[in-house]
Amino acid sequence: MEGALTARDRVGVQDFVLLDSFTSDESFLDNLRKRFKENLIYTYIGTLLVSVNPYKDFGLYTQNQMELYHGVNFFELPPHIYAIADNAYRVMCTERNNHFILISGESGAGKTETSKKILQYLAMVCPTTQKLQVVRDRLLLSNPVLEAFGNAKTVHNDNSSRFGKYMDIQFDYKDAPAGGHILSYLIEKSRVVHQNQGERNFHIFYQLLEGADDKLMSWLGLERNSQKYSYLIQGRCAKVSSIDDKNNWKTVRKAFSVIDFSEADFEHLFGIIASVLHLGNIQFSEDNHGRAIITDGSQIRWISKLLGVPLSILQEALTHRKIEARSEELLTPLDVELSYYARDAVAKAIYGRTFNWLVNKINGSLANKDPPKTNVIGLLDIYGFEVLETNSFEQFCINYCNEKLQQLFIEMTLKAEQEEYEMEGIEWEPVQFFNNKIICDLVEQKHKGIISIMDEECLRPGEATDLSFLAKLEEKVGDHPHFLTRKLADQAARKTIDWVDFRLIHYAGEVTYCAVGFLEKNNDLLYRNLKEVLIKSKNYILRDCFHSSELDNRKRPETVTTQFKHSLASLIEILMAKEPAYIRCIKPNSAKQPGKFDDVLVQHQVKYLGLMEHLRVRRAGFAYRRKYELFLQRYKALCPDTWPHWRGPPEKGVERLVKYVGYKPEEYKMGRTKLFIRFPRTLFATVDAFEV
Ligand code: ATP
Ligand code: MG
Repeated sequence: MEGALTARDRVGVQDFVLLDSFTSDESFLDNLRKRFKENLIYTYIGTLLVSVNPYKDFGLYTQNQMELYHGVNFFELPPHIYAIADNAYRVMCTERNNHFILISGESGAGKTETSKKILQYLAMVCPTTQKLQVVRDRLLLSNPVLEAFGNAKTVHNDNSSRFGKYMDIQFDYKDAPAGGHILSYLIEKSRVVHQNQGERNFHIFYQLLEGADDKLMSWLGLERNSQKYSYLIQGRCAKVSSIDDKNNWKTVRKAFSVIDFSEADFEHLFGIIASVLHLGNIQFSEDNHGRAIITDGSQIRWISKLLGVPLSILQEALTHRKIEARSEELLTPLDVELSYYARDAVAKAIYGRTFNWLVNKINGSLANKDPPKTNVIGLLDIYGFEVLETNSFEQFCINYCNEKLQQLFIEMTLKAEQEEYEMEGIEWEPVQFFNNKIICDLVEQKHKGIISIMDEECLRPGEATDLSFLAKLEEKVGDHPHFLTRKLADQAARKTIDWVDFRLIHYAGEVTYCAVGFLEKNNDLLYRNLKEVLIKSKNYILRDCFHSSELDNRKRPETVTTQFKHSLASLIEILMAKEPAYIRCIKPNSAKQPGKFDDVLVQHQVKYLGLMEHLRVRRAGFAYRRKYELFLQRYKALCPDTWPHWRGPPEKGVERLVKYVGYKPEEYKMGRTKLFIRFPRTLFATVDAFEV
């Protein structure tokens, strides 16, 4: 019929590899847009899944859907995160190996939702017993607790993860989930004391004030009004219509009992959370000598009670600084500004460490009590690449982390794939791609990288400033192609960079960082007498978090970025030892609205997520590969020449078999040790299609 659209015209193709036309940026975008308009948010590039955040629920994650995807061949159903999860699970069961699913994309693209849905899927479809039901509940309910303490409303996302999370789901020998383990990365604790316009503090504070019963509120000395707390209103949006703090509190409260929290744990934990709120309301004024004094003693009395520390010592610690000089201890009074600094430093320190304590505690409850543990599927959900109006130390760390993950992706897919063709002697036209290793090196290289330069400056307390740090950067990495200083930027007639800024050209775009506060945040020091107070606290969570060994001046603690660098390096090691699956999440618009597809925004993400390069490698390459011996072993029954035995060299048998089942010469290639098939038919596209 004239003018009628074919289904393909209307809904696009479900695997980009199947796009007929030359794969231009436009045709890629076009396919994504068509599908999005039809509520088809998932599309494959081979085995990689691209997901576009729909910002609405249209029944994609029902029990029926879960059952539909369970145990079904990857290519037989429309693309879905359940297909990715199911595939990882099935390969794990058959091949007895470990897997990870890396979910990436910028803030608000849907990573956390995806990781939660996958966890639900794995928990629901796997076999369970009564005992395992407990494990399942704990795995699922660890999420609301961690989100309450680790997520916050930002300008990009009403539920933005402000920490990185890697979770291993452990399976027993019967392939049922038997436990879990969470690694968390760098919680953004500066948010505890400061939020940008339109942003909130961590959800838990608002949930507590909205949801806690009167008894708890009066025990904590809190008022049911977030407007009363200085730490909660800096972003001027304590109330958000899309967030139901009261209801979320109920979920969190229930989750605590499931994940093994005693009443005492609960009280001590919320004693700390309430103390943070009280701390934020402490005001200082100046006495006649210019020294800080606490204006009103009521907050500090509450803190003293809740944290179990003597009032006078706490008071002294917030207004004085203890310095050790030649085995003597000197107590010097602080001015008002430094007292505020000390106050905020305690609030950040106790929140940050309590968060880590919480993760450990949850790990205790998720621990697989019946080893031997068998295989795992790891889920990685890390804060997305972030560009704000003003980008600070936190964005620098977040974006560095994203560089590392992009590097892993390149290593494990683009590079590994092309190297394999070379190794196997397959004729191959190399696909060009941008390798961001150069940016990772710029940040983390020993002695020469930005982190080392920052650490060096942190070793010169009293002398180094954010400006001297900038000057050092200029001197040492000033001519790096991915680094721009003010001078260079002006020369290139780019947008001017302020005198305290530096700019990095990340794989995902340029980001201008304001260097103010970098050294201080990297050092992350807490005055000695404040540490002493916390170490002696009667609150056992705090005592777990602060140890007397920290008072030893001879040991210099690692800086924040160096610690982060090491934990990322070990994460990469953990991932490299597993079989990968990738989900790339895309944010369709900045307004967080359903149905809106912003071409420019999506195009930008397609570009930096490296999707076109991935597609080109996939299209030019071979979706299926398998060692000759294994292939023959598995499929020899399909050809009378190879069944029941093939006596010659395996590759000859494989060739005979492949021809017999009807593959044309251009459809496959024989490598040194493996058979490669360009687009496998469902016959071979069973679980092992994933094997690289
Ligand atoms: P960040 O890096 O800031 O943590 P994120 O990628 O984890 O961002 P999410 O919190 O997962 O983003 O998603 C943001 C919001 O988008 C969710 O709160 C939800 O409203 C919506 N959303 C995401 N994925 C889906 C989905 N599959 N279906 C419906 N809505 C979704
Ligand atoms: Mg998230």
